[in-house]
Amino acid sequence: MNINENYLNLEQSYLFSTIAKKVNEFADKNPDKKIIRLGIGDVTLPLCKAVIEAMHKAVDEMSVQGTFRGYGPEQGYDFLRNAVKDYYAKRNVELELDEIFISDGAKSDLGNILDIFGKDNTVLVPDPVYPVYVDTNIMAGRKVVFANANGDNEFLPMPDENVKADIIYLCSPNNPTGAVYNKEQLKKWVDYALLNNAIILFDSAYECFISDEDLPRSIYEIEGSKKCAIEFCSLSKTAGFTGTRCGYTVVPNALGKLNKFWLRRQTTKFNGVPYIIQRGAEAVFTEQGQKEIKENIGYYKENAKVISETLTRLGIWHVGGKHSPYIWLKCPNNMSSWDFFDYLLENIQVVGTPGAGFGKNGEGYFRLTSFGSKENTIEAMKRFEKLFSDK
Ligand code: PLP
Repeated sequence: MNINENYLNLEQSYLFSTIAKKVNEFADKNPDKKIIRLGIGDVTLPLCKAVIEAMHKAVDEMSVQGTFRGYGPEQGYDFLRNAVKDYYAKRNVELELDEIFISDGAKSDLGNILDIFGKDNTVLVPDPVYPVYVDTNIMAGRKVVFANANGDNEFLPMPDENVKADIIYLCSPNNPTGAVYNKEQLKKWVDYALLNNAIILFDSAYECFISDEDLPRSIYEIEGSKKCAIEFCSLSKTAGFTGTRCGYTVVPNALGKLNKFWLRRQTTKFNGVPYIIQRGAEAVFTEQGQKEIKENIGYYKENAKVISETLTRLGIWHVGGKHSPYIWLKCPNNMSSWDFFDYLLENIQVVGTPGAGFGKNGEGYFRLTSFGSKENTIEAMKRFEKLFSDK
């Protein structure tokens, strides 16, 4: 028996456990101080009414013999795939039903998709970024190279013709930086992928935070992309499904064998998303559902605006916030990410996420999120104003 030794090459992830430890220690020593957490990457508002009603109805169906459902299609029920198809069509992206695969969220599909690619591929991952892309490839023993995202390129790295990559990850709007590619920039990535016979794995988990009509919410808004891109999306941040679990992945038929390979992979290793959840997800795409989720997203975006405006007033460099729940700021006075974390905790009891936890280029930066309550966000920013305008 041989174990998968690649797992030994994974870096231990101490980020969130270290944050929790530091915060708990501080809280124990200072029980009278109110800590505000702006580090969380999880939603806090409940599921919207349309979703809850649809799920209740589906539960009732499950209790009656005539409407009970057992195993469903591995790739998702047609009612939900059609809803996703129509959602794309509204942005002039025409998809075939068999290109859409319903998932239990983007994270699993982002990892599982690697099953359909050979081992000897070079993988290009932006740095900093959502750590799942790197770790899943290290587990599979693939070579990972990095595209540097930094202040100079506003955390939007562009293709380098001297770097040869086969599998490219792009995340827009980005976690952790909140930076968003425009159409011209994405076109350059599509052209690079087509030229190099590479595939783009496009993570659009935060697409619904984009408020500018001109910015692409799907890579398929870019000409030529169906020949070189797979898209992963999720209802987690769109509709508060982080605990409910539902997303979708698009594998275009223009990618040749890959669509059938993914179907085969899913029908072999996956047994579909629960019927009740898929009915809830379908409700997200109704007129009422869209109205309700937009209200929730609007709430988070207001928080992001409060954070961004405060940082602007204080002259603290940052990106994100406008089309994303994340605000990525440069730590003042050249502090390191962890020093800044300690500084905020000690002085104003605001918790964020040190950028160094998302890659080496994250050092010196810090992530704040807008998923907290409005009251806490305003209070946290008042504390920021006081701390930094005193300086
Ligand atoms: N992609 C990005 C960029 C994320 O930040 C996250 C979650 O934080 C995910 C995917 C995972 O989404 P899901 O909850 O659908 O698995």
